[in-house]
Amino acid sequence: MVDNLYVHFPFCRRKCTYCALPSRAVNTTAGYVEGILRQLPSGPFKTVYFGGGTPARCDLRPLLKVLSADEFTVELHPLDVTRELLAQLRGGGVNRISMGVQSFNDDTLRDMGRGYTAAQAHRAFDLVREYFDNAGIDLIVGYPGDHWELEDWGYRHLSLYSLILEPKSILARQNRELPGDDEVLDRIRELAQELAALGLRRYEISSYAVPGYECRHNLAVWRGEDYLGIGDGAESGLNRDRREKMLSLRTYLGLDADEFPEWRATLEFYQRQGLLTREGSVFRLTPRGTEVCDAILADLA
Ligand code: SF4
Repeated sequence: MVDNLYVHFPFCRRKCTYCALPSRAVNTTAGYVEGILRQLPSGPFKTVYFGGGTPARCDLRPLLKVLSADEFTVELHPLDVTRELLAQLRGGGVNRISMGVQSFNDDTLRDMGRGYTAAQAHRAFDLVREYFDNAGIDLIVGYPGDHWELEDWGYRHLSLYSLILEPKSILARQNRELPGDDEVLDRIRELAQELAALGLRRYEISSYAVPGYECRHNLAVWRGEDYLGIGDGAESGLNRDRREKMLSLRTYLGLDADEFPEWRATLEFYQRQGLLTREGSVFRLTPRGTEVCDAILADLA
């Protein structure tokens, strides 16, 4: 019995330039949902997450009929958003939407191959908010030539990803100049402040939410809870090693040195460097620590 379920849908309209996820542009998704149904364990689940790819390329109704969860998230592409789909998802027990927007700049969106303008994405998100209170968007920082001002669309959650030049992506083959690390970090700092002013606190390295709207599925994964992944390209984390709980350092929950006495000295070292704060036995990243979290985690591993 596992509490957290991830279902991957590896289908897209077309390949975005920056993407190296296991997804493909296809005309038919026939048989895929039936295959997922055959692998589903019985629920209920605490969290279910439909990610992609673009889940709505499939008819999700057979899955909605049999799945239920306290938090049930579906990722949406702005071009998928219709009243019919939103009503279907809400009626099927979905209660959280994550919409990939990626940029507020029309030139960048065209360059990325996203297929919509910022205004179209905004309209799609307004529609999502008519059906779902718990809705958020994803943005990318560091795409070549990208410039935009943060827009307040009333999102409860925002994931802010630094562009990673994936060797297998279209972008990597284009040989374009990317902004430097310092420029990207400055931009993230600036956006973090603007998001805080909108009431979204940073609760994980790349994730911001109005308090109470944090993604419970992702928090469960970072806390080291087991999760089952189904679908092409999905990974599972079952019988996870207690050391995987150290990923909670990525989050506002921090890491409790009483649970991991073997790491106490290292955590105290980084506290002295100003990269961690301490409250009782719990260590948490400072804003500067957030920027070098991977190095701290590598040191603990
Ligand atoms: S970024 Fe998302 S929509 Fe674009 S190709 Fe990758 S998985 Fe598909």
